[in-house]
Amino acid sequence: MLDTAPSVAARIGAHVLPDATRRAYQRFRHGPAAFQLALAVEGGLPWAYRPARRAGTVHVSGSYAETALAERLVSRGQMPERPFVLLGQQHVADPACGRDGLVPVDCYAHVPEGYTGDATEAILRQVERFAPGSRARIVAVAARSARDIERCNPNFVGGDIVTGLKTPTQLLLGPRKRLDPYATGAPGVYLCSAAVPPGAGAHGVGGHVAARSALRRLS
Ligand SMILES: Cc1cc2nc3c(=O)[nH]c(=O)nc-3n(C[C@H](O)[C@H](O)[C@H](O)COP(=O)(O)OP(=O)(O)OC[C@H]3O[C@@H](n4cnc5c(N)ncnc54)[C@H](O)[C@@H]3O)c2cc1C
Repeated sequence: MLDTAPSVAARIGAHVLPDATRRAYQRFRHGPAAFQLALAVEGGLPWAYRPARRAGTVHVSGSYAETALAERLVSRGQMPERPFVLLGQQHVADPACGRDGLVPVDCYAHVPEGYTGDATEAILRQVERFAPGSRARIVAVAARSARDIERCNPNFVGGDIVTGLKTPTQLLLGPRKRLDPYATGAPGVYLCSAAVPPGAGAHGVGGHVAARSALRRLS
């Protein structure tokens, strides 16, 4: 069971995978990346929209038009001035993760695939925009760029944390465009990562259906 991006699977299985599979895996298209910030915040973020102070997850963006523009630019390889930011306030559900009035806040922005710039300021500007006064409360910032994310886990090629551009074909048929996207064409070797249906966000299901594909061939 190869729980990796197709290009990584092509490298690991170079000696066993059929040529057509390796070529298909190398052609697999990756999507936008993430740029991650971990913040230590004095007393939590002072969101102007007060219910957001009690939310575990906050989508920091703006109007629909603004969000669509940011995502369109990112998909074209351009870094937006106001990126879409997804932010987690884990202390809301687990107060024990804060200490001495300091709470951790984790967030990431959508950035272009393989983005090499620093998105820290753009993220902090977005947070300050909707939580005025937040900068004064942030006592520490740790950043992980798209490249750092890939270095930590080579599965996230170019910082693409959802393993592949979710075009209808890639989402439904995987990298080889097959009805059984889990089979690689090599006996006993299967792909079970977020690159195969149902993809990222349905944690564990890729592995479950890949295992069923393997069991069908054994019986
Ligand atoms: C900061 C961040 C936030 C996220 N937030 C969310 C979220 O809110 N909701 C959501 O649904 N998803 C989220 N995701 C995405 C989610 O983590 C992935 O979709 C999911 O982990 C993919 O699962 P996977 O099994 O395909 O791969 P992974 O979980 O990445 O597992 C692949 C494993 O293979 C190993 N590996 C890679 N290359 C090799 C190699 N050459 N040899 C041996 N081992 C190797 C890796 O070390 C890793 O252990 C987030 C990801 C990140 C980084």
